[in-house]
Amino acid sequence: MFERILIANRGEIALRVIRACRELDIESVVVYSRGDADGPWLELADETICIGPAPSAQSYLSIPSIISAAEIANVDAVHPGYGFLSENAHFAEVCRANNIEFIGPDVETIRQVGDKAEARKAAVKAGLAVVDGSDGPIASDEEALEVARKVGYPVLIKAVSGGGGRGMRVAHNDIALQTGLQSARSEAEIAFGDPSLYVEKYLVGPRHVEVQILGDQQGNIVHLGDRDCSVQRRHQKVIEESPSPGIAADLRNKMCRASVKLAKNVGYHGAGTVEFLVQGKKFYFIEVNARVQVEHPVTELVTGVDLVKEQIRIAAGEPLGRKQGDIRPKGHAIECRLNAEDPDRGFTPSPGRVTRYLPAGGPGVRIDSHIEAGYFVPPHYDSLIGKLAVYGDNREEAVRRMQRALEEFRIEGIRTSLPLLRRVLRNAYFVRGDYNTRFLDDLLS
Ligand code: ADP
Repeated sequence: MFERILIANRGEIALRVIRACRELDIESVVVYSRGDADGPWLELADETICIGPAPSAQSYLSIPSIISAAEIANVDAVHPGYGFLSENAHFAEVCRANNIEFIGPDVETIRQVGDKAEARKAAVKAGLAVVDGSDGPIASDEEALEVARKVGYPVLIKAVSGGGGRGMRVAHNDIALQTGLQSARSEAEIAFGDPSLYVEKYLVGPRHVEVQILGDQQGNIVHLGDRDCSVQRRHQKVIEESPSPGIAADLRNKMCRASVKLAKNVGYHGAGTVEFLVQGKKFYFIEVNARVQVEHPVTELVTGVDLVKEQIRIAAGEPLGRKQGDIRPKGHAIECRLNAEDPDRGFTPSPGRVTRYLPAGGPGVRIDSHIEAGYFVPPHYDSLIGKLAVYGDNREEAVRRMQRALEEFRIEGIRTSLPLLRRVLRNAYFVRGDYNTRFLDDLLS
């Protein structure tokens, strides 16, 4: 097992990995930018190293700075969290070239599944249905127009290297497609350093359901059930739950089995997520995320498996301690993302000083948050300030518990997503589990 791990991330996920390290008796070394010098999570690390100024490009995304820190701290492995360098194959390669284990899949696998067009090909090979669209990255606007005519409008333009809902555009006709291609291309170039795009049919009102998988380096792969992440704003997840209230058991089984097959085919190891869109009784592969997800706690709550500790054990070469039959999801879990954002200004980030912080508590409540009263939410990073998750014996209890927990929660000094979350949890459609990816945008329009 590793003795020291460097955590190349910040905020709640850095804290989540520190906690896993502590329980495994591994020392944690956390890097931070000058914008995070007063981050409360740093106090809980065994060692901290400043890697540069606040802008991510010069700190959390700077491979040379992180590798230097890893060498100075003499760590055995790097945990990248999610976002930042977590799916950067080059970073994984540099780590391993420096004899530092990268906690994640092989470089080739990261490369293959990180490229959405390549991932689609792998999915088709594994017998999965994908949304109709271009075979690979589109070479020209003309090709995109041809694809759109073939599959029919509306279509969705996606960045090949995209993530977090960025670089995506819906187009309802040729003109919108042409302007959309232009703006998506430049957004993708800026956000991901890769302007390549592909085009697929835009499904109207699907559910987003994903499958959590875990694979070891010996070739054993299991799934840990599904998560429904259909409550989204502008293609970004806001509330997640497990299991999905909107799919039947046979569909769930098919999706889970198909995900394991895909993972086996690409030689996957570590924790990963296979994402699908579900419409009626059909499910379509959209992408693989080769990292731990923001919403992993709901799976941990229903399965009892600590996904971050498993990631670390797998990277250290330990075989999975469980077989598929040992994993029996039980009960129901829901997670709400707490964001520092201003509902009166189109949910734009709302950085600033937190004057009061009183988290919810009591039975079945789990909080993953790195903030405290007096903390200044910096403007440089994602607006996620924590996650509130609840567990119940069934969905009804989990919903009631989440309503109660959201009522208890107090965050003052900055604007947050709490009022929006309370509204959703009281919405009759949500309470019935009757919602799809358009639900939240419709509610707000
Ligand atoms: P990202 O990697 O940027 O998060 P995804 O491919 O995971 O992008 O898609 C994010 C969300 O966008 C999905 O959960 C879904 O709501 C929506 N979406 C993606 N592809 C389609 C599609 N073909 N039709 C309709 N909605 C889609």
